[in-house]
Amino acid sequence: MMKKRPLLLCLLLHVSFTAAAVNKPPAFKVLAFYNLRVEPDHVDFANDALVYFKRLAGEKNFQFDTTTDWSKMNAAVLSKYQVVLWLNFFPTTPEQRAAFSTYMEHGGGWIGFHVAGYNDKYTQWPWFVNFLGGAVFVNNNWPPLPAKLHVDPTNHPVTRHLPADYLSPANEWYQWDPSPRLSKDVKVLVTLDAANYPLGKKNLLTSGDIPVVWTNKKYNMLYVNMGHGDKIFTDSLQNKMYEDALLWVGRKKK
Ligand code: ZN
Repeated sequence: MMKKRPLLLCLLLHVSFTAAAVNKPPAFKVLAFYNLRVEPDHVDFANDALVYFKRLAGEKNFQFDTTTDWSKMNAAVLSKYQVVLWLNFFPTTPEQRAAFSTYMEHGGGWIGFHVAGYNDKYTQWPWFVNFLGGAVFVNNNWPPLPAKLHVDPTNHPVTRHLPADYLSPANEWYQWDPSPRLSKDVKVLVTLDAANYPLGKKNLLTSGDIPVVWTNKKYNMLYVNMGHGDKIFTDSLQNKMYEDALLWVGRKKK
């Protein structure tokens, strides 16, 4: 009988260790905001993004919550999350905007995709333009098209699995004036290759510096221009960048 006890103890320890591994708390919590009453191509992207990040949450042990209710952009809700995603829209009321800027000024994390960064003279939110590194939307290609992208640096946590150059799936690419690269606070990670010009048919991108993925180093943030249509998640190499991006923002300590 005595000889069986160590075996039983080992078995019990194994069971409890396994249970602890399954039940361990999430490494960080993400809340993804999106909108179903926007351009259909932007809804398609959001739906694909939800599938992608929900699966990733299971694999990488973070909590992934989603909402179409932008009134949840308030201090009480945001305080429960380390990362906020804007998949295809942005806050429109002064209250939502104030809650978001306060969250980011106090170390919150954010990734915005595509139209999340859109702003023009009607947006009337100077804080957000500054947050993006001064970038104001000025032009886009149409229809959505694949484009050659240049990655520099390739050793950044967000881009470390990307090659220096690759062909990105079809997207509507935005141009900005001024380019966020002109801001001393911005680090550009991915840029539209000038070899693409002229890019488009009905609407053309013909010249200029077009950053595609960048961070404003004053914040825990990343802007990603991809986000238009149902092709965005068709490249496994590029998909890895979305994973690396979320883990980079999520794991930064407040
Ligand atoms: Zn678009």
